Amino acid sequence: MQESASEEQIQQVIEHLVNIGFEVHRSTGARQTVLGAVGARSDFDIRNLELLAGVQEVHRISAPYKLAGRSFRPEGTIVKFANGLEIGGNGVVVMAGPCSVESREQLFATAEAVAKAGARVLRGGAFKPRSSPYSFQGMGEDGLKLMREAGERFGMLVISEVMEISQIPLMLPYLDIFQVGARNMQNFNLLRELGKVRKPVLLKRGISATFEELLLSAEYIMSGGNYEVILCERGIRTFETYTRNTMDISAIPIIKKLSHLPMTADPSHGTGRRDKVAPMARAAVAAGADALLIEVHCAPDKALSDGAQSLYPEQFSKLMGEIRMIAPAVGRKVA
Ligand code: PEP
Ligand code: MN
Repeated sequence: MQESASEEQIQQVIEHLVNIGFEVHRSTGARQTVLGAVGARSDFDIRNLELLAGVQEVHRISAPYKLAGRSFRPEGTIVKFANGLEIGGNGVVVMAGPCSVESREQLFATAEAVAKAGARVLRGGAFKPRSSPYSFQGMGEDGLKLMREAGERFGMLVISEVMEISQIPLMLPYLDIFQVGARNMQNFNLLRELGKVRKPVLLKRGISATFEELLLSAEYIMSGGNYEVILCERGIRTFETYTRNTMDISAIPIIKKLSHLPMTADPSHGTGRRDKVAPMARAAVAAGADALLIEVHCAPDKALSDGAQSLYPEQFSKLMGEIRMIAPAVGRKVA
């Protein structure tokens, strides 16, 4: 309460808190009164209180997300797959592949190269969220079929982006992990539907999303009963234009502290530049990432999407060698 708050104003605030279900603990100091409100109202909007007469400031102590918060599972979540792969355990999992599935030849050449270098999950978009409606929109179900076939041929799990609810049943048989893109991080209807699915979901941070917003989006999926959520930092929008996005490496240790969910880094979208992908991938592993999501293309100059940020297979293979050295320095290994 403000120093100038009257006893009447203090009583009005207490009454207000009690009426909405809080238990109030009052601490009367020499100059100021502090009111502690204890209760289970996680949906409470603190701005309503800030407007009451005599109130100086209001701070939320407990996080508004419950299932995604670290205290829900302090030991951390490990997402386990039938082939024995684990995301969130000691091994750092590398997911790699093209931005988009473009053709059988392109996908298989890229998949073979990334598998050989040590990728455990094949990435590739079949439905693409493009900024322009005139850009390549993806191969759809044909692309998913190719993803499944390439994943099986080269011994990798498969991840691909789901853009809307109607695609979920179509994609289910082809995928091991659903990817929710940055643009859909707050597509709450889609998140709710993915809460009903029993397959892991990799949820990317929106381009201007706060950590709290990211974790509340994870909460949407988890509150539906799907606890296998993997988070991903993929760069945020800042004033800097040199890179496509600003890769927020600090998101990795921060999310690892706030949440028990595994954390992925996508340095490809995080920088938008091929020459900056490896340094940011190395930094992400050093910062504690549980997984990396990296765009690789067999011929980046011919790519139909995100060619400039796609690694050549040789660059990817070199990067794998580097992170195999970095991981042990932070008590990890590459899965
Ligand atoms: C992608 O992974 O190709 C993609 C579109 O990512 P984002 O949603 O992070 O832009
Ligand atoms: Mn891409």
